[in-house]
Amino acid sequence: MLKVTDLAVRYGRIHAVQSVSARLEGGEVLLLAGLNGAGKSSFVRAVAGLVPIASGKVELGGRDITGLPLHRLDGVALLPEGRVLAPSLTVGETLKLGGGAAGRAVLRGRKDEVLERLPELAGRLGQRAGTLSGGEATMLALGRALMAGPRLLLLDEPTLGLSPAATERVFEILARLRREGLGMVLVEQNLRRAHALADRVLVLRRGRALHRGPAGETGDAQALEDLVFTDQ
Ligand code: ATP
Repeated sequence: MLKVTDLAVRYGRIHAVQSVSARLEGGEVLLLAGLNGAGKSSFVRAVAGLVPIASGKVELGGRDITGLPLHRLDGVALLPEGRVLAPSLTVGETLKLGGGAAGRAVLRGRKDEVLERLPELAGRLGQRAGTLSGGEATMLALGRALMAGPRLLLLDEPTLGLSPAATERVFEILARLRREGLGMVLVEQNLRRAHALADRVLVLRRGRALHRGPAGETGDAQALEDLVFTDQ
């Protein structure tokens, strides 16, 4: 479904991502692991067309989407790092925005689905996003992304700063979405939980692919942690 070939991202003289390739079949979860500054966000944002690509190619379902911005990518949605919600919009308005230009009937159907998956939002449709707790805001950011009706969801550190209970809940939801066949690229520091969810793993170090392969091949979560955290 997603094929990234020799992707490079630069910010001036900083080589944030250097010749990284990755593949994801439909319904799979790709875990992107690495230390802070390894290039994970840059990789995801480049796939979503939100930062310029210095070189390389991104294909979705066989179509070249290199550099196309997110709003022109049918079937792809992003949960950005830090969640990034408009604080003065209500939960309901935020969800509606996530649906983009979809027609009314489609929007209504998606909203029903989102509220069924994320029941914590159901009683809060009139509440302003800026007054939500961290966990609730994450649910809303996830709901907004799902309103796009994606086949591929890009998640940049969805559990960052959340309580253990809220983190648990996010992983529960992601596990269900995976069972339902949604493909995901997941940037996550909680390697134990993320490893259990992942089909494939890509470990970045200083912008380069240190390891790439099926999650089972990496060994257990401890082996993955060793790979990410051991200095080489
Ligand atoms: P984190 O977990 O801290 O978000 P990361 O693995 O996602 O880290 P990136 O945020 O992609 O890594 O950063 C990769 C490199 O690019 C870092 O050296 C970072 O300082 C640099 N960088 C990221 N964004 C920019 C930018 N807009 N301008 C200049 N340098 C940037």
